[in-house]
Amino acid sequence: MFRSFLFPNSRMKYVKKNRNKVEKKGCVFCRIANEDPDIEKKVLYKDDKVMVMMNIYPYNVGHLQVVPVRHVVWLDELTKDERDALFEMVNRTVKFLKKVEKPVAMNIGMNIGGETAGASIMHLHVHVVPRYKSDFGFMEITASTRVLVEPIEETYQRFLKHADMLKG
Ligand SMILES: [Zn+2]
Repeated sequence: MFRSFLFPNSRMKYVKKNRNKVEKKGCVFCRIANEDPDIEKKVLYKDDKVMVMMNIYPYNVGHLQVVPVRHVVWLDELTKDERDALFEMVNRTVKFLKKVEKPVAMNIGMNIGGETAGASIMHLHVHVVPRYKSDFGFMEITASTRVLVEPIEETYQRFLKHADMLKG
């Protein structure tokens, strides 16, 4: 395995094999993108490049994630078009949350490349987390028990009523 990192061609094979393995088991976001009926979906928006969905293990009420439709791990694996679409959708998500949730602040971020960076899903995604006056600091929220004041299904139903805003 170490040797494969020294030889780009074998490394590419290793990466591809790994990715196929991931897809065989079923990457959660790919399954959502492919509308797999056996997976819980809380999608607010989807087009051919990008989707916006609820984080089903939210750090805070209204925690959304913006996800490219194509399975990539790293930001620089996206084409420029996909990257532009992703960032445009992050912007629309910010606008959406500002209007619907009226947060005082937000955290926006990516954990890339797996558990070392705190990512539980390899498929690239951008977290958009609204923050309210009564919140703890972000580190406290991410590092400790989550305290939610609204069940996620209720937030989802509330957000669905305004989901047209995400069309831009
Ligand atoms: Zn995927």
